[in-house]
Amino acid sequence: MTLAFGSLTDVGRVRAANEDALLADEQRSLFVVADGMGGHNAGEVASATALEVLVSRVDAGTSLAEATSEANTTILTKASGDADLAGMGTTLTAVTIRDGRTAIFAHVGDSRAYLLRGGDLTQITEDHSVVEELVRDGRLTPEDAETHPHRSILTRALGVEDHVEVDAYEVDLLPGDRLMLCSDGLTSMVRDPVISAALRRERNSQRAAEALVDLANRAGGSDNITVIVIDFEPGPEDTQNPRPVGAGTGAAASGGEPTGGEPTGHWEMEEIDPGSAAHAESAADSADAGHRSRRRLSLFRLALYLAPVFVVLLVAVAVTGWYARGTYYVAIDDERVTLFKGVNGGVLWWSPTVERRSDVDIEELTVAQRSDLNDGHRFSSSSGAESFLRRLETDAARRAAALEDSTAPRTEPTVSPVVP
Ligand code: CA
Repeated sequence: MTLAFGSLTDVGRVRAANEDALLADEQRSLFVVADGMGGHNAGEVASATALEVLVSRVDAGTSLAEATSEANTTILTKASGDADLAGMGTTLTAVTIRDGRTAIFAHVGDSRAYLLRGGDLTQITEDHSVVEELVRDGRLTPEDAETHPHRSILTRALGVEDHVEVDAYEVDLLPGDRLMLCSDGLTSMVRDPVISAALRRERNSQRAAEALVDLANRAGGSDNITVIVIDFEPGPEDTQNPRPVGAGTGAAASGGEPTGGEPTGHWEMEEIDPGSAAHAESAADSADAGHRSRRRLSLFRLALYLAPVFVVLLVAVAVTGWYARGTYYVAIDDERVTLFKGVNGGVLWWSPTVERRSDVDIEELTVAQRSDLNDGHRFSSSSGAESFLRRLETDAARRAAALEDSTAPRTEPTVSPVVP
């Protein structure tokens, strides 16, 4: 696998200073986000100190988790000797890549590490914050946590206590994996699904980091924002053999004829073959072909995955269509009582159509009939709707006749046949 990365730290839209610190060191395979806190720029000192200690300890061969513990001690010592720095602290989320294949994380605080694999975003680290612990205990919903006023109160940070518990994680990497480290200036402003979509959309690691910072700023940028995106791209050996097991027994170094069943060795032989343009080209071709077949394979998997969804959608549309066109209703349209086929107001792209417009005027209806037809009187069959309409017609005709009778010779006052 080959590694590509992008990073960005930004003061945001509200804060005067940036107390976040980041390290993206390809040579050391070390990537760190630290989010400092404390007055008088002490936060900056805390996050910068954490990074310095981490680099020097990792260079000395100390494990990442142990180096993080030592950073805690150094920050405490610094703070105790300087009143301006008293109470400073920092989060720290660090990853180092072992043998180009395994990501080793050390983590304290509420900065986060995520893994984007096959389009799915997984949060690797757990926040050490009051709110996240309430969520983990089931005492707060994740939705409530997002807007909780105390969501930035940490339960663990570097520089607070003599001993700090450091979370350690290990992830076996696959070609195509993307890691993202960030401070809470991103995650407090942008929800995970939006982060995930941005990471899937922007293939270039630097531009992906910039896009995430941009999203946080657009959402208000109320805190410092730091993002590191690390991509593990399939190297030549991955396109030949995505998971070489037991490879690397010196096939390339021996310089001998590659063994038939050792694609990795064969590939390396191709690469070091001197001055062979043809070989280089065919190597590139086969790498290309590898990429293409991998893409075809993932498209095929996607299609398989999506097929049931399409079937369900199709059935839903069919049922909706049947419902939309299989029902009838009687309503007032253009002052006349009218029989429609379909659903009042329409469903999706099915609009109701006029089946029959009667001669019954709105004025000829009783108040009760009018209110009944207001939203349309629904029927599941055409015959039901038709006989209802006929009843209304007969009713209206009878009332009209009665009215005529009553108006002719009599002298008593007319009582309008209005049913309340
Ligand atoms: Ca912060």
